[in-house]
Amino acid sequence: MKKLASRVPRAALAAGILASLLAAPPARAWDPETHTSIVRLALAISPEADARIRSNYEGFYAAVAAPDPFDKKCTVHPTLEGSRDAASTAAVALEQLLGGKMIASADARAHAIGRLLHYVADAAMPEAALRATTSDVYDPYWAGNTFAVFRESRPLSRPFADSIRAIGADARWGTDSPSTRSYAYRLAVNLAVDTLLALPAVGEVKAGPAPAIFCIDRRPKAPPPSARTQSLAARVKAIKERAASAKSTPPPDAADTDTTTPPTDRPGLHLVEWVTRPAASGTEVRALLYNNDERCAEQVAITGGPSAIGVPGRVAPRALRSIALAVPASTAGMLRAAGREVACAPPYGAEAGTPAPSRVLLSSAGRPPDIEKPLAEAPPQ
Ligand SMILES: [Zn+2]
Repeated sequence: MKKLASRVPRAALAAGILASLLAAPPARAWDPETHTSIVRLALAISPEADARIRSNYEGFYAAVAAPDPFDKKCTVHPTLEGSRDAASTAAVALEQLLGGKMIASADARAHAIGRLLHYVADAAMPEAALRATTSDVYDPYWAGNTFAVFRESRPLSRPFADSIRAIGADARWGTDSPSTRSYAYRLAVNLAVDTLLALPAVGEVKAGPAPAIFCIDRRPKAPPPSARTQSLAARVKAIKERAASAKSTPPPDAADTDTTTPPTDRPGLHLVEWVTRPAASGTEVRALLYNNDERCAEQVAITGGPSAIGVPGRVAPRALRSIALAVPASTAGMLRAAGREVACAPPYGAEAGTPAPSRVLLSSAGRPPDIEKPLAEAPPQ
C-alpha cells in the first residue's frame, strides 16, 4: 500500500477508495434458507420453545424466511449498529408480542414470532455472513466442518435490545474460522430458543430430553436397497459383519489425530470446535469437546504443537462440554483433545458437559442443515 501511495497522487487514491466503497455490494447476511434452518433446529432442540408457537407454522416460517416485504433476501436491512439495529428491531417485536396488543389473530401472532426470530438471528450473524456475497457465502460456510447443535441456555433479560445485542455479539467473538462459523450458528439457534422462552407457552409443554444434532459434511447417499429385496441370509451376514467391525474398533485412549472423518464416526474424545482470539499474552480459546464413548473421558488435555494444556474435570459419556482456556500464541493452529476413557456411573454433574444420549445427523455439505432430512448413521468402520 505504501508503494502504491508513493506513485499515485493522494486525491486520485482517495477517489479510488470512494468509488470502490460505492461499488461494494451491500452487507449480506444469513439467507432465507439459513434463517429457516436455524429456527427449525431451535424447535428441534427445545420442545419448550416449540410450545410457544403450536399452530400456523406456514405463516410462521414464511416470516422467518422473509420478514420484510421490501427486502426479501435480507440484503439491506441487517445492521448491527445504530438505533435500528437487528437487536432493537427484535426487542420491539418481542415487547409487542408480550403486550398482546396489535396481534389480531393466531396467524398474525405466528407471523410476528417468525419475524422476531428472523431479526434475532440477524443479531447473531458471524463476520463470514456479514461480509459474504450471496454467491460465496455457502462454499466456505457449509463445507469441511462439523456443527454440533445442542441446548445452551442464556435467558434474555430486560431491556431485551441490550440482552439480544450482547448475546448476538458473541457470534463475532473470535477470528473467522470453520469453528467460529459453527459456534455462531449454534449461538443463533440457542438465541432463537431463549427468545421464544421469553414468551408464554401455549398449552402444556412436554418436557423431555432433546437430541444433540450433528451437522456433518456428507451428502445423503441414495437410499439402500430395501431390506425386503435382500434374502434373510444376506441380512444376517450384514448384521454379523457390522458387529465384528464394531468389536475391532481401536481403543480411544490415544489423541484425536484423524481429521478426515467426522467425530461422530469415531469413538473417543474429540475437539469438535475451537474458536480463537488473540490476547495480550497468547491466544484465548473457546472450545467444544465431544466424548463419543460410553465411558467418561478423564485426564483431558488440549494439545497443539509441543504444548499440552490440562483441562480440569471430566467429560460425561456421549456428552458435549464447552471449555475456555488460554494457549501460547505459538500453539495457534490445529488443536486436538486427548483423554483417557474410564468406566463411570451417573450422576456426572453439570460441569462434565451436556449429555447427548441420542443424536441426529444432518448434512451440512454445501447447504444449511435441514432437520427434515436426517442422514443415516454410518455403520462402524
Ligand atoms: Zn435479515
